[in-house]
Order: sequence, then structure tokens, then C-alpha cells
Amino acid sequence: MTEHAPAPTHSTDLTLDPNDWAEFRTLAHRMVDDSLEHLRTLGDRAPWQTMPGSTRETLSAEQLPREGQGDDATYAQFAEHVLPYTNGNRHPRFWGWIQGNGTPLGMMADMLAAGMNAHLAGLDQAPKLVELKVIGWLAELMGFPTDSSGVLMSGGTMANLVGLAVARHARAGFDLRADGLHGGPPLTVYASSEVHSWAQKSVELFGMGSASLRKAPVDASLRIDVGALESMIAADRASGSRPICVIGTAGTVNSGAIDDLNALADVCAREKLWFHVDGAFGALAALSPTLRPLVAGMERADSLAFDLHKWGYLPYEIACVLVKDRAAHEGTFSVTPSYLTDEGRGVIAGGLPFADRGIELTRGFKALKVWMSFKAHGVDAIAAVIEQNVAQARELAARLAKVPDVVLAAPVSLNIVCFRFAPSGLTDEAQDALNKEILLRVQETGTAIISGSKIDGRYVMRAACSNHRSTWADFEQLLTGLERIRGELAS
Ligand SMILES: *Cc1c(COP(=O)(O)O)cnc(C)c1O
Repeated sequence: MTEHAPAPTHSTDLTLDPNDWAEFRTLAHRMVDDSLEHLRTLGDRAPWQTMPGSTRETLSAEQLPREGQGDDATYAQFAEHVLPYTNGNRHPRFWGWIQGNGTPLGMMADMLAAGMNAHLAGLDQAPKLVELKVIGWLAELMGFPTDSSGVLMSGGTMANLVGLAVARHARAGFDLRADGLHGGPPLTVYASSEVHSWAQKSVELFGMGSASLRKAPVDASLRIDVGALESMIAADRASGSRPICVIGTAGTVNSGAIDDLNALADVCAREKLWFHVDGAFGALAALSPTLRPLVAGMERADSLAFDLHKWGYLPYEIACVLVKDRAAHEGTFSVTPSYLTDEGRGVIAGGLPFADRGIELTRGFKALKVWMSFKAHGVDAIAAVIEQNVAQARELAARLAKVPDVVLAAPVSLNIVCFRFAPSGLTDEAQDALNKEILLRVQETGTAIISGSKIDGRYVMRAACSNHRSTWADFEQLLTGLERIRGELAS
């Protein structure tokens, strides 16, 4: 039998706040200093190193801590075992996949947001106005009406999923919310074969089955074949399915290819389909007046999803979905339980607009890092770094094209360079193995982080330039490293 705890008195009230605020403040200042110092000196270390066995063991074997060991000891273990061992995405020579780097200001904004611990379902509070303002700014940048509906989400997958959910609700033609998929004919959705995996996950989750996602072939530039798309839509209609949505991609994850968004908008207008654009990273090209023509037609979408934690350079997690038709957006999700009724006054005045625009009720204050970043840097400064990344990708491609045996595996549409060593005299399989080995050595020697992928069935190396810390000297290091490793493997 455990004894009953004594009734709380003034001196024994329990809390998780520090006992000694002065001591905690000292530690907290050290945490900030260490984090900033780590960021300042990123380039002095290798982008990535494998974890020592002791760290793997320590992190895997830990028992559930019933008793606290204190803040200082816990922070010391974080600094030793956790902080140094990331996949390297903050490093100036990281061009693996499309990941973001984060910024010191974004880090501090997330800390301030956590300190406020604001509940962003809505409610009558300044953070709600900040999120609404940020959504309006993003709409303006993307060429959407500034009164578009929108919501900030954890990532592109979630933002795209919400966009597709609205598309389905708006175009199903029957009461999907009440009757589910039994209410009407099979619904179909269209995208290119290069569409990101979120689309398949979404239709599967929606109960539509992966077969409802029709993947149209792509042309030589890896853009959707619009003629083939139209034939697929016609064939589906003829066989009794109901096409609801075309997904265009502004910047495919594999090669950065941008679908002909104006052509897709035309198809959707003719066929009365919802036009959703996945602009996870590519949509951010719209921030730059010189790059904006690359994503022309994006502004004609009914819904648009994009990340700010990739090419917006902000720390994870942050993405946005914009929806022009506010009624369709809220009609997809809105459910107001009685304990959340808008009384028109008090804390709940204005209701819970964000809870009505997605599936989350409790949400954090993600908007703060966007708001602070836009205001502090200015959007033009962010756009200039995006332009720098595109210029770096073009220059890298030009330099790689001059390296003996290197071929470019796809056109550089935006900021991704796909290439491979293709020495004559090696079979395709031997070339694949060679490129894979070069790639792993590039990573393991701390030269840089680039990633591998497949284009036309062949293994390629891929440098995705969405890094605000990369200088041209960093790319020179990659080029030198590639030639050195290629030489080692040849001898
Ligand atoms: C990264 C990416 C996604 C998914 O976004 P997350 O933020 O990783 O969830 C979707 N589409 C494209 C084109 C992407 O590049």
C-alpha cells in the first residue's frame, strides 16, 4: 500500500517549473550559446559521421527514467550523444534529397513559440492573427487571392493530403461525409508517374485504393504527358468512374521537373476537375520575379501545397496548404462540438478557424517562425538565396558535364542535378554499381551529402540545391572529391 500524499500545502505544491530559476537561466543561456556556436561552426566538421558504438548503445539501452537526474546531467548527455549525430542537413555541403537547413532566427522563433505554448485551433489571441497574416502573405506570394483559405501544417505530405481531401469533398458529387464512398461511383485522381508518394498514401488512407490514382506517363523532360492524361480521363468516364482531380507537380522530387501547369489548368477547366498543385519545394520559386515564370499556371490551381521547411529554409516542421474556395475547405472538415461553440465574445470569440481547415485540433504556433523570418530578412532576401541555389545547380551541371565519363541524367529544370558516371566498356549494371560506390564514398569520407535515385531505370547521383549555406567553394569540394574517388576506384 502506498501512503496517501499529504494534502498540498503552500510549501509542498508540485510543479515542473525550476526550483531555482537563476540556476535554470544559466543552463538555458548555455543551451542557446552552444546551439548557436554549433551552427556557426558547422562547416568545420564533416557533413555526416557514423555514430560511435557507445552512442548507439547508450541511446538504445536506456531504461525508462523513473527518477530524474536533473537538467544539467540531461543536457550534458544530449550534447554528447545526440547533437553531433544528425544526417547533416544543416551543413553547407548537404545536397541530399530535398531537405532544409533551418536558420538561427527560425530556431529562436521556435523557442519563443514553445515558450508561449499557444494553442492554435484559433481563439481570440494574437497568435491566431499572426497565422492568418502569414497565410495571407503566402497567398500573395503564390499569386492566390489574399483572402484564400489556408492552414499551416507539419509538412508537404500533410498539406497535400488536406488539399486532396478538399478536392474530393468538392468534386465527389455526393455526400461523401455522410455516405462515404458508398454514396456514388468510383472516384479517380490523376498525376504523373513522377508524383510524390504522398498521393498514393492519401488515396489509400481515403479508402479509395491506390488503383484510383491514375499515373500518366511523362515526356523526355519528365513532365506529365497532357495528351495521355486526357485519354485516361476520357476512358475512365466511359467506364463509369468519376474523375475528380488532377494533381500537377511544380518541382518533382526526383528531378525538379515542373509539369505544364497552364495546360493542366486548361484540362481541369474543360473537364470540371479540381486542380491541385504539389509545389512542395518548387512553389517557392514564385518568390523570385525571375524564377516565377517557371511555375506559371500554379496560380490557377484550386489548391496548392508547399513546404517552408525545404526551400523556405525554416526549421522543421512547417508547410502550408492554400485553398481558394473557403466554403469547400471548411465544408470538408468543420465539426463543432458544443464545448467549442463560438460565443462571439470571451476567449473563444472567432471560434476555431484552423480546426475547421484540417484534421488537427491542437496545433502549435508554427506561424511565428515564418512571420519573424519574413519580417527580419525580408522576402526579397530569401528570394535571392533561392535564385543563388538555381544558379549553383546550373553551374554544377555545367561543370559536371565537362568531367570525363559524366552524363547528366535529366535536364536541370530548377535546382536538382542528376548525373552519373557512364564509362564506355562497362555494362549498365556495372555502371550502377560504380555510381552507388562513388556516392557512398562521397558521403562516408565527409566530402558532401548527395543522394542516389533512379531515372529511366538507371542509378543516378543527385544533388538537390536548396541550401542557403552553400558557397561555390563547397561545390568545388564536391567536384574535386568526385574526381578523386572516381580515380581511386579506377586504379
Ligand atoms: C518533400 C516533398 C513532399 C513531401 O513533403 P514533406 O514535407 O516531406 O512531407 C511532397 N511532394 C514533393 C514534390 C516533395 O519534394
